[in-house]
Amino acid sequence: VAKEKRLPCALYSHQQNRYSLLRLSLMSELCGAIERGELVLHYQPKLDLKLQRITGVECLVRWQHPVHGLIFPDDFIPLAEQTGNIRYLTLWAIRTALAQCARWRQQGMELMMAVNISSVDLQDPALIGNVADALAASGLTADSLWLEVTESAVMHDIDKAVELLGGLRQRGVRLAIDDYGTGYSSMAQLKRLPVQEMKIDKSFVMDLTHNEDDAIIVRSTIELGHNMGLSLVAEGVESEEIIQLLSRYGCDIAQGYWIARPMAAEAFEHWWRQRMSE
Ligand code: C2E
Ligand code: CA
Ligand code: CA
Ligand code: CA
Repeated sequence: VAKEKRLPCALYSHQQNRYSLLRLSLMSELCGAIERGELVLHYQPKLDLKLQRITGVECLVRWQHPVHGLIFPDDFIPLAEQTGNIRYLTLWAIRTALAQCARWRQQGMELMMAVNISSVDLQDPALIGNVADALAASGLTADSLWLEVTESAVMHDIDKAVELLGGLRQRGVRLAIDDYGTGYSSMAQLKRLPVQEMKIDKSFVMDLTHNEDDAIIVRSTIELGHNMGLSLVAEGVESEEIIQLLSRYGCDIAQGYWIARPMAAEAFEHWWRQRMSE
């Protein structure tokens, strides 16, 4: 990554006293971590329930820290959002994931790539041009890329979100609303979003076969989404029974440990070949 693209690594925020010393030191290290290649993307497949085929992957970032070992995103994404460094991480993730996707296509692995973006990214109009540049560099068409944004991130500033997502959509990028059901959006707000996919939060899916309330929520969310013309994804699918139930409800896509955990690129290739030969 070019030096001039580097964002200032602000170590102190007015809320710094909320963080432990470990977290503070992680926050100050994050910029350098990207340059030192300590961040890696893992890939989790998405299973199309009707086609019974893997149609795409979602990339999920991990930090291979030289001292603390493997750190999961929940432990550093919020910090990166506080400091604004998330914009740097997001761009790195989009570029890296698209490059991987292009290599896989050359090997005959026809997959779409999904990348998570944060509420901070939604405030940054430069994202649209940056995404277009990353697509051009990868040689992939815009419809190869899904950007996932959480329901709560969108609701944070809905007018700005609608504008930015609209710009991305105009360029042909596909958009998904993530963690649906946890962000208190109204139907009127939902209707304004130019998204094509709705991902039902895993908290409603994981216990689906044992919890009647969850079953009702999932079923009606699928119906709502379909009525709005969206494709429905259930995340957190941890059993065969849940897959069966989701299929009966008409859910389009499933993602979860029962299908596969997020894997490093090489492990994913191995998993894919094995699955293809079955
Ligand atoms: P998410 O986007 O909702 O991603 C799904 C999370 O659920 C991932 O956790 C995934 O590993 C986990 N998961 C997948 N299947 C199952 C399952 O069957 N059961 C259970 N219990 N969990 C499952 P992970 O990788 O720790 O990521 C956590 C969150 O961090 C993500 O939630 C996303 O919001 C954020 N994140 C991850 N990578 C990025 C990134 O590159 N950029 C941004 N902005 N956020 C990211
Ligand atoms: Ca996601
Ligand atoms: Ca999610
Ligand atoms: Ca989440």
